[in-house]
Amino acid sequence: MKYLGVELQKPKVGVFDFTSCEGCQLQLANKEGSLVDFLSLIEIVNFREISSDKSDDYDVALIEGSISRADEVERLKKIRENAKILVALGSCACFGGVNSLKNRFPIEEVVTEVYGDMPKETEPVRRVSDVVKVDLCIPGCPVSKAEVERIVVNLVTGAEVKFPKYPVCVECKQHVNTCLFDLGQLCLGPITQAGCGAVCPNGKYPCLGCRGAFADPNYEAFKNIVAEKGFSMEYLKERLSFYNGFSGAYKDEM
Ligand code: SF4
Ligand code: SF4
Ligand code: SF4
Repeated sequence: MKYLGVELQKPKVGVFDFTSCEGCQLQLANKEGSLVDFLSLIEIVNFREISSDKSDDYDVALIEGSISRADEVERLKKIRENAKILVALGSCACFGGVNSLKNRFPIEEVVTEVYGDMPKETEPVRRVSDVVKVDLCIPGCPVSKAEVERIVVNLVTGAEVKFPKYPVCVECKQHVNTCLFDLGQLCLGPITQAGCGAVCPNGKYPCLGCRGAFADPNYEAFKNIVAEKGFSMEYLKERLSFYNGFSGAYKDEM
């Protein structure tokens, strides 16, 4: 197999789901025009959504979802042992994601509320990196198809994987959008890592920070803008904790 004239290894890839909605896996499976090219770069050996093949012989493990049960911990550790490269795929795997909202409540209350008189074993949500070593984190809820394709090509060719070092606002301005702060909304674009093409503000919906903090966020300046525009710190904290991508930010102040 050759890419730009260079002989390549075709890595064996396994895709595994934990506590998640499977939206990130669906992004991979639903690549429409580029699915054939994508699959020709790699050998899928384990990916429940597209194949009944199952093998423990893989180079790259793509992990979707957060960890919320004891059996998930054991399964994840086995996958880590098998994989040369382990990639956390999506906000759930990278940060805990929406699932981490559960951590706001005592676990007994959560079990009663969700399962009633048929309780199930469940634990507070953890990021994949809280349990095993993660080599690469691809954020997003769901992940961007284009970004995953680019990163897989980087892994196959041995090129360095890079993420934008600027916030979503840069991509938003490239789309010549009116800033949502000027339309009375609180948007996390100024502190969130770009790479999604500002898909939410493009649709007049504020960024909720599903890609987590960008490399060098100015939290103080952002907090001042939020206050100037009349939003409470409590409301900001609510937004920041939605995907858990900013855990630790404002820890002392809020
Ligand atoms: S990151 Fe979002 S799309 Fe992906 S599995 Fe989690 S909830 Fe679903
Ligand atoms: S709408 Fe959001 S992403 Fe766009 S410029 Fe304003 S703060 Fe930044
Ligand atoms: S605009 Fe924000 S919330 Fe929307 S996809 Fe991009 S990073 Fe995620």
